[in-house]
Formats: sequence, C-alpha cells, structure tokens
Amino acid sequence: MDPFADTLQRLREAFSSGRTRPAEFRAAQLKGLSRFLQENKQLLQEALAQDLHKSAFESEVSEISISQNEINSALRNLRAWMKDEKVPKNLATQLDSAFIRKEPFGLVLIIAPWNYPLNLSLEPLVGALAAGNCVLLKPSEISKSTEKVLAEVLPRYLDQSCFAVVLGGPQETGQLLEHKFDYIFFTGSPRVGKIVMAAAAKHLTPVTLELGGKNPCYVDDNCDPQTVANRVAFFRYFNSGQTCVAPDYILCSPEMQARLLPALQSAITRFYGEDPQSSPDLGRIISEKNFQRLRGLLSCGRVAIGGQSDESDRYIAPTVLVDVQETEPVMREEIFGPILPIMNVGSLDEAIDFINRREKPLALYTFSNSNQVVKRVLAQTSSGGFCGNDGFMHMTVASLPFGGVGASGMGSYHGKFSFDTFSHHRACLLRRPGLEKVYALRYPPHTPRNLSV
Ligand code: NAD
Repeated sequence: MDPFADTLQRLREAFSSGRTRPAEFRAAQLKGLSRFLQENKQLLQEALAQDLHKSAFESEVSEISISQNEINSALRNLRAWMKDEKVPKNLATQLDSAFIRKEPFGLVLIIAPWNYPLNLSLEPLVGALAAGNCVLLKPSEISKSTEKVLAEVLPRYLDQSCFAVVLGGPQETGQLLEHKFDYIFFTGSPRVGKIVMAAAAKHLTPVTLELGGKNPCYVDDNCDPQTVANRVAFFRYFNSGQTCVAPDYILCSPEMQARLLPALQSAITRFYGEDPQSSPDLGRIISEKNFQRLRGLLSCGRVAIGGQSDESDRYIAPTVLVDVQETEPVMREEIFGPILPIMNVGSLDEAIDFINRREKPLALYTFSNSNQVVKRVLAQTSSGGFCGNDGFMHMTVASLPFGGVGASGMGSYHGKFSFDTFSHHRACLLRRPGLEKVYALRYPPHTPRNLSV
C-alpha cells in the first residue's frame, strides 16, 4: 500500500486542470501564506522555541520576517515575473515573435531541514507557488513542533487540491522519492543530497540542492580584532551555530589569533553573559545525536574559550578551539554547532591555498581593512556566496541568488531567482503562416536553380 499515491494523484489532477496558472490564483496562495504567518506568529514562535530554544528575536528575524519579506516581494513582482520575456532575434527570424515563457514545471517536491524549519520550508514554497506549481512539502521530522504546525495548520491557508504536507524521516522520504516529480528542491546535507539526486536521476527530474559544508573565514592582520570578533561571534553562535552559512573556522596568523582571543571572549560575555547557559539568547542543540557529535568535537585541539556542555539541556557553550590539526574531525566535517576552531596560516597565499584544497564552500568570509586583500580572496577562490567584513549578510539581499557550488550545492533561489528556479524557461518562436516564397529559399535541392526561385 503506497501511502503517498492518493495525495500525489490529487496534486497531479489539480495541476492538469490548469487552475494554478492564473496570476490571481497564485496571488491568493501567497496571501494565504502571509495570513498563516500573521495569524500564527505566537504558535510558530513557541514551536521554534521548543525545537531549538530560539529566542523571539531570532525567530522573528531568521524565520518569520524573512519569510514574510519573500512573500511580499513575490506579491509585488508576480505579474512582472510572469510576463513573457522578449528576446533579440537573428536575420532569419526578424519577422517573427521570439520570447521566453516562464511556465510551471508541474508537481514540485520540497524537502526541508530542521535548522530553520519554518523559513527553509516557506521560502522555496513561495517561489514554487508564485511560479504556478502544485507542491508537496516534506518538512524535517527532527524539528517536531514546527513540523506539527506546518502539517496541521499551514494547509488550511492554501488550496488543498494543489498543496499538501507529508511527514516522515529517511525511510518515508526514500519511499516518496521513488515517485516521479517534475522538480525537486532539497535543502540538507551533502550526504542526503546525493541520495536525492540519484533518486531524481531515475526519472530525469531536475533538482536544486541547497547543501552545506565548511565555510572559511579569513582574518587579515590588518583589521580591528574587536570588530571582527563581534561579527564572527554573532554569526557563529546565532541559532547555536546550526546555520549552513555560519563561519565554520577562522584562518589567521598566530599574531592575529593572540589579539582575537580576548576580543572573542569579550564578545561572547557581552552577548550571552557570564553564564551563557542561562542566556535566553542562546539556542540549544537540536537532538541528542548532534549533541554527542558536537561534544566529541570539543576534544579536538585545545579549548581556549568555553568548552562546557550539559547533556540534560543539550547545551554546548560558545566555544573557541586553538592548536587544531587539519586532520582532526573538527576540521574535516561541517561543525554545525557553537564551536569555532582557529587554524593558523603564515600568509594570505597560504590561506587561499588552504581554502582551494577543500570542497567549494557555501559561503566564504574575509575580514580586512584592505580592499585589495578582500578582492584577492574573492578573485582567487570559489564559493556559493561571499561576504567581505561581515557574516552571512549577503544572503539577506533578495536581489542576490542564494545557493552553493560544487559540493555545497547546485542551483539557487530567493526573490526572482526562486521564481525562475521553479519555472521552465520555454523557448518560443511564433511565425506567421504567410511569406512562403521567402522561406522556400531554405528547402532542398540546394542548387543554384532552387536558390534563385
Ligand atoms: P539532512 O540531509 O539530514 O536532512 C534533510 C532532509 O532530508 C530532512 O527532511 C530529512 O528527513 C531528509 N532525509 C534525511 N535522511 C534521508 C535519507 N536517507 N533519504 C531521504 N531523505 C532523507 O540535513 P539536516 O540535518 O536536516 O540539516 C543539516 C544540513 O543541511 C547541514 O549540512 C546544513 O549545512 C544543510 N543546510 C543547508 C542549507 C542551505 O540553504 N544550503 C540550509 C540549511 C541547512
């Protein structure tokens, strides 16, 4: 008995009926999403606090407002994005009309992770609905409270013939992926990304993979350590480090490390107090499994700041590690927690070489008072996104595409990039039926007599 068959059939029939295509229908779905956020704000904040101990501030800026902004932008621009795009023509098509039509793919599957369980479900959903698709959403089973709200409350705000939420972990998602979808949008780990891509390949289904990895953060000698420490600590410890674009490790000289350590200690104490465990602003590790994994990483190198943990509360203190080796697990796997290792490099060239010897990261950060240094790192490396002199602010700009490259993912979204991701760009040429004498010039036989017709 296939638990997904009925739902998939319902969504397919709805798409075939054409009802998701008109702009009015799409706008109504987006307005429904907006109402869902407004009317359930408190419920969502409570769910996020239960799942990740997210503060009201973090829930607001990184889950609710950011999703609301995406909806507002899609509603504002929907008709402009939907318009056929006229393109320049060649000599042989001068009298024709050539344009790109953005048409929906059909049935889209969105698979979401647990770290921003609301936003990473809703942001792709906005793009998929705006582009006129039917959508099946599979939230993360690990962020249980948010999953419940998404499954029980969200569908009430959308047309249920065109949208559904299905629940499940690896096994159920594996079963789901045996079905044919017209597009799959996956956010999660590179390991599962490969499983999703292999399943999609069986049906030649296009995919966007929003994955993770280790995001380097190069700190030049020429910069103010306190400013750098404030910014790096804020973005590293936000959501207790469980952010795909968080700075994963620092690369700097031993001299800069000596100046950064007291500055990082000062930033951590100002942000979270003398006892970070009692701070309302510090998140918790999502699960026992991840807590144990992170606790294991605390034994890499030497703890310079923090290092405490409490299993009963899944608490890991904001931590800085020094004297770490490239070969240790903390430098080999994505950390995804409130632990910041510092690796020493002797020069900018060495830092660039270190970065380029690894998989292409989702984000790369460079701190320097010298524009030239920032521009050199930008020019000589590759990553999904780049930000000079701050953490992941680049991903808050909706006019920039958000996505990875190489092992950190493929494809991108946010704003118009989402609409384009979830639309097939159909190449169209409309020719008039007449003027056959002119067009007959191309037919064989290609002899001088024929050409002179
Ligand atoms: P994950 O890959 O374990 O799970 C993601 C989704 O895949 C979940 O819905 C889960 O149920 C499903 N899944 C898990 N195992 C599966 C399997 N064997 N077969 C099919 N589906 C399966 O990722 P996670 O732990 O939820 O999230 C953390 C990872 O996601 C990190 O690597 C992080 O960097 C990445 N991430 C990336 C972005 C981005 O935008 N690029 C954003 C957030 C998180």
